[in-house]
Amino acid sequence: MDAPRSLIKKVIEAQTHNSYGSSSTIMSLPKDLQVHLFSMVASDSIVDLFNLKICCKDFLDLAEEKYIYQLVSLDTVPLFPWHPDLKDKQSSFLQLCRESGNLEILFRDWLLEFNKNRNSCLEILREISEKGHETAKYMYGMLLLCFEDEEKRKEGLMQLRLLRRSKCVITCRKKVEDLASHCWRVNRKEVVRTLKTLCHNPMQCNGRRVYWGWPLLKDEEDDIPCEYCRFDYELNCFCSIFNL
Ligand SMILES: [Zn+2]
Repeated sequence: MDAPRSLIKKVIEAQTHNSYGSSSTIMSLPKDLQVHLFSMVASDSIVDLFNLKICCKDFLDLAEEKYIYQLVSLDTVPLFPWHPDLKDKQSSFLQLCRESGNLEILFRDWLLEFNKNRNSCLEILREISEKGHETAKYMYGMLLLCFEDEEKRKEGLMQLRLLRRSKCVITCRKKVEDLASHCWRVNRKEVVRTLKTLCHNPMQCNGRRVYWGWPLLKDEEDDIPCEYCRFDYELNCFCSIFNL
C-alpha cells in the first residue's frame, strides 16, 4: 500500500532541511524510487511539487522527468490563465504535460473542443476515460446516456455504475460544471438527448424521490434505491450544464 502523500512530502522536506543544503539522502535512493516519490507529491499538489523544485538543483532536475509531468495534478491550474504574464509560462508547462500524456490536460483539450463542436470525437474521450480519468468517464457515460440506442445507454450505465461505486459521480459532475463555467457559452444542440427515461415506471418507482427532495449535492447522500431513476436525474443535471 502506498504511504500517504502528505507523509512522503514531510519526509522529503525534513531530509532536505536536515541536510544543510545537500539533498544526498533522497538522491542516494535508486532513481526510479526518487521519481516515484516525486510523482506521488506531484499527483497530489502542483504547489508542493514547485516548492520541492526550488529546494535544490537535484530536485529541480528530478521534477523535469516526463513521468512527473504525466501525473502532476492540475486541479489548481485554471482552464485559462488569469494574468496575461502567466500565459506563456502556463502554455509551455501544459504543453509538456500534454506531451507526457497527462490525462487531465488531454481531458481539458477534449472539453474545449466539445464546447466548440458538440460532435467532437467520443472515441478520444473513451480512451482518456479508460486510462483512468474519472471525470472523463463521467462525461463519456453521460453522453452515452443521451443516445436513443439501447446498447450505447447500457455502456453508459456501466461506466457510471463504476463511478457510483467509488462514490464520485457528484464530485465529477461538479468538476465538469466548474470547467464548463469557464468556457465560452455556446447554444449548439448537435447532441440530441433522448427524452426516454431509463426507469421503466418512473411515476410509480420509489427512486423517483430524487426529484422531490433536496438536490443531490454530495456523493455520501447518494442512496437512491433505483439506479435508473438516479441516472435519469443525473442526466438532467448534466444536460443543464451544457444546454443539451
Ligand atoms: Zn426508478
